[in-house]
Amino acid sequence: MKIIDTHAHVNTKEFDHDLDDTILRAKVNDVTDIIVIGMDEYHNQRALEIANQYEHLYATIGLHPGYVDEGTTEHIEPLLKHPKVVAIGECGLDLYWQQDNIELQKKVFIEQIELSIKYQLPLVIHTRNSFNEAYDCLKPYAGKVKGVFHCFSSHLNDAKKAIDLGFMIGIDGPITYKNAQDIKEIAQHIDLKHILVETDSPYLSPIPHRGKRNEPANTKEVVKKIAEIKGLSIDEVASITYENAKRLFHIGGNTK
Ligand SMILES: [Zn+2]
Repeated sequence: MKIIDTHAHVNTKEFDHDLDDTILRAKVNDVTDIIVIGMDEYHNQRALEIANQYEHLYATIGLHPGYVDEGTTEHIEPLLKHPKVVAIGECGLDLYWQQDNIELQKKVFIEQIELSIKYQLPLVIHTRNSFNEAYDCLKPYAGKVKGVFHCFSSHLNDAKKAIDLGFMIGIDGPITYKNAQDIKEIAQHIDLKHILVETDSPYLSPIPHRGKRNEPANTKEVVKKIAEIKGLSIDEVASITYENAKRLFHIGGNTK
């Protein structure tokens, strides 16, 4: 079985002391591939360093909406030619943590949408309390953009709108939580071909690891839960979501 964690921040300080062991534990749990997600200049550089170091690890480069007051997108473009860069992000809008800089968040998001078109790279999108606003930024580029709404946290109808726009739905640990009805409903009604599995490590640990640092090995818990909801085997969910990631991120050979 091969599982890909399509969203892990193993480039944060939480993993500085045991990165080798973390990647080993992932492999033991069939998580063979990991996409390391950049957020700002420091974490982008660190994502590239790590992707260089390990064979089945890849990097994304971007400016997260939580960092727009401290950095710009200027450093992003020169990094995009690196062969292990598979996407732009994470980028997007966050109206949960901050609302007063929404215009700056939008400007920075649109800059990254345009880079994704220029370099033919998918977008890894973060939204929190901001699905409609992010959707409105993307709409004018319909047909030219693709990617994933990572850690999807809106309703089934919004998931359908995202898919119609050419995006995948990223599902993480919260699907294992008791009160996470929306994401369970999405997993049930959305065809598996539109779903990616991810951890968002070190955040959002699935049950039974809730409260502890999350890590890529736990992607398996997300796969198990989707299999249970959809009445499919774990193997089937692992292999289809792996193929989805290969198709979107152009990894593992001739999937372009
Ligand atoms: Zn993230």
